[in-house]
Formats: sequence, structure tokens, C-alpha cells
Amino acid sequence: MARLVMKFGGTSVGTVERIKNVALKVKREVDAGHEVAVVVSAMSGDTNRLVDLVSDVSVLHDAREYDVVVSSGEQVTIGLLSLALQGLGVSARSWLGWQIPVQTNAVHGAARIENIDCTEIIKRFEDQQVAVCAGFQGIGSDNRITTLGRGGSDTSAVALAAALKADRCDIYTDVDGIYTADPRIATKAAKLDKITYEEMLELASLGAKVLQTRSVEMAMKHRVKLQVLSSFEDLPGTLVVDEEDIVEQQVVSGVTYTRDEAKVTLQQVADRPGMAALVFGALADANINVDMIVQNVSEDGKATDLTFTVGRKEMNQALAVLDQLKDKAACRAIVPDPNVVKVSIVGMGMRSHSGVAKIMFSALAEKGINIQVISTSEIKVSVLLAEEYTELAVRTLHTAFGLDAA
Ligand code: ADP
Ligand code: ASP
Ligand code: MG
Repeated sequence: MARLVMKFGGTSVGTVERIKNVALKVKREVDAGHEVAVVVSAMSGDTNRLVDLVSDVSVLHDAREYDVVVSSGEQVTIGLLSLALQGLGVSARSWLGWQIPVQTNAVHGAARIENIDCTEIIKRFEDQQVAVCAGFQGIGSDNRITTLGRGGSDTSAVALAAALKADRCDIYTDVDGIYTADPRIATKAAKLDKITYEEMLELASLGAKVLQTRSVEMAMKHRVKLQVLSSFEDLPGTLVVDEEDIVEQQVVSGVTYTRDEAKVTLQQVADRPGMAALVFGALADANINVDMIVQNVSEDGKATDLTFTVGRKEMNQALAVLDQLKDKAACRAIVPDPNVVKVSIVGMGMRSHSGVAKIMFSALAEKGINIQVISTSEIKVSVLLAEEYTELAVRTLHTAFGLDAA
């Protein structure tokens, strides 16, 4: 007998038929004698619709009321799935975040889970009852409903698995595993049998939305056995594992991209001590995160260009902050460009192989793709490109690093 957490994403519960299909999958595990907690997302498209409703009523909204609205999609699916399970003769009940309770901090819209008390759920496992839990939501330290950020049901599932000391956390979704690149844009992407926590963490934070970044962080910290697999086909998925569990380590394991960033260039900023501190200090004070940065040495020692990226959604706010500094920084112009994409390659093997960046830059150059900004860490290289090259760049790098499926 094992204790399992099964998580189903929006597409997997997108229709009544699909919810019934999920119920059959859950029943199979229950019939095999396992203790099962299920975490579900809202029906696909529902959370987007709820977010839009909030924006339609109020652009600058109270985040606490935003959470009340956008968390409601999951209330529907836990009820429907519990009913579908009961219809199959399986004992099941629904749990909202506050009922479990899933305790979070009070950062509405992007709350962090602080504690999950599973006592009641575990007690009910003794009566073979399935716990059907709402993903994406919790109860804040202010005693109000919180949400965990988009894609947060993955984090709900992993946190529950950690709290339940589950044997495994299975993330059922609309692809049958983690691929070497997003299979929707890289037709030659190959499914991985295994990937390390570290690589998955980089891929997720650099744009691969198959798992929410925080869910991977949490799985890594609590050593949760994590698997990504298909809701629609009975196929083995991808296991997220420790480095030691990977026999043949590739230099590059995956290619990913994000269109969530925008580029800002401050032209001809005064080249003197304190300028970077002035610019980035002001952005930090406004809670605007900066990701990539380049600054050239000025030729005449007087002025230089300073280029960086911020979240695309924050671009206008960043421009407003920078506009106030324009005189102090003595810069000639502030040039925004939202039409950029950050494409990244990720792989543990990069730590011990040189020449990876060279292969990347040459492959892009051969296709005539200009690199605007570069950033690296131990296991990744990211480049900022014009957005129109997204597909071409991902496919080109995928081929260049020998990742194309046979
Ligand atoms: P769910 O609603 O089940 O949470 P998501 O849409 O959040 O599903 O995540 C699954 C999607 O992630 C896939 O449909 C796929 O397009 C995308 N994706 C991006 N990068 C990858 C990758 N490297 N491997 C697999 N899927 C990926
Ligand atoms: N329903 C939420 C969203 O769309 C949470 C999730 O699907 O993981 O972001
Ligand atoms: Mg998701």
C-alpha cells in the first residue's frame, strides 16, 4: 500500500467527461489499495476568465478580493470530482484550502504555503476516503483566502505530498512528461525519462510552465518523489530525481523560452560611480525585479548605454520610475522594447564542459539571429532575442545540442 498525491491540471478537468475520466484514474489507485489525496485545478480557461472579470471591474484592485474571485474555479472542480467519485462507489469528499487548512502568508496573489495540517485527511484515509483538495488556494495569516500565483496547483500538490509524507506526487497534465523543449513549439522535442531537480528548477524558472517553479523548489527541499505524466494516456511519465539517479548526463538537457520580459535601454547614462545603484535602487524600491543586465565600458569615459530586462507586465511602471531619474542619471533617452524573448539552454553537464556557449552563439549566428543580452549561471545560458525568432531559436538550439528525437 502506498500513499499518493494525484494532481490534475485545467485541461485534465476541462469538461465533465474529463472529470469522469479523472475519477476512473483515481478509482484505479484506490482499488489497488492506495491512500489517495487528489489536487485539482480549475477547468481550463476558468481562471483566466475570473482574472479578466476582476480587471474589468477594477484595474488597480484589492488583492484580497482578487483572491476571493480567482480561487473560485477550484471550488467547482473539487465538488464535481467528488461527485464523480461517489458515482463510481468511491468514498470521497472535497476540501477547500481553509478547511484542510493550508496555511499561507498574507501575500495575496502570490502567497507562500507555511503549513498544512493533514490530521483529518489522514484519519479519513483509514476509512478509504479520498481527499479531493482545491489547488492554488490557502488561508492567509490574515484569515482570508489566498492564492499561490498562476500555476500554483502544482505547488499545492507537492506541499500536500510533503505534509502527508506521500510515497509519490503524480502531476497529470496534457503532455505525457517533461520534454527537452516545449513540445508545442519544438516538434522534435523528446520526452525525458528522468530530469534532475536542479535542471527542472532552472527550466521552470526560465519559462517551462509544465511545473510551477515553487513546486520544484519545494519538491527538492522536501525530497518529494515527483512524476509528470499524461491524464489521457497510460504511459510512464518523467521522474524528477537526484543527480545521482541519472546515469547518462547530457551536456544540455533542455531548451526553454519566456516572453514575459521586456528590455529597457538607458542611452548615454553618465559613466560615474553610483549610477547603477541609483537606477537599480529606484527600481528595487518600487518592487520591480530586474533580470538580465548589460553595461558597456564607455569609450570616452563620459557616458555609456545601460540595458536590462524587467517583467513585461511591469514595464510601464519601470518607465515611470526611470523617467523621474532621467535628469540625475543624465541619460539621453529611455528606450523600451517589449518585443523580446529570453531563450535558455539548461544542463548539469555545463559545469564540466566548456564551449557550450560557443555552440549556442554560433548556431544562432548561422540563422542570422542577433543576440541582444546574455546571462549565464553554472547550469544555464540565456540570450535575449527579438520575439519574432522564438520558434526558430528554440528549434535551432534543440538541433545544435543533439536533442532532436530520433
Ligand atoms: P496544467 O493545466 O496541467 O497545469 P500547464 O499548461 O500548466 O498544464 O503545463 C503543461 C504545458 O506545459 C504543456 O501543454 C506544454 O505546452 C508546456 N510545456 C512547456 N515546456 C515544456 C516542457 N519542457 N515539457 C513539457 N511541457 C512543456
Ligand atoms: N487554476 C490556477 C491557474 O490557472 C492554478 C493552476 O492551474 O495551477 O493558474
Ligand atoms: Mg500548470
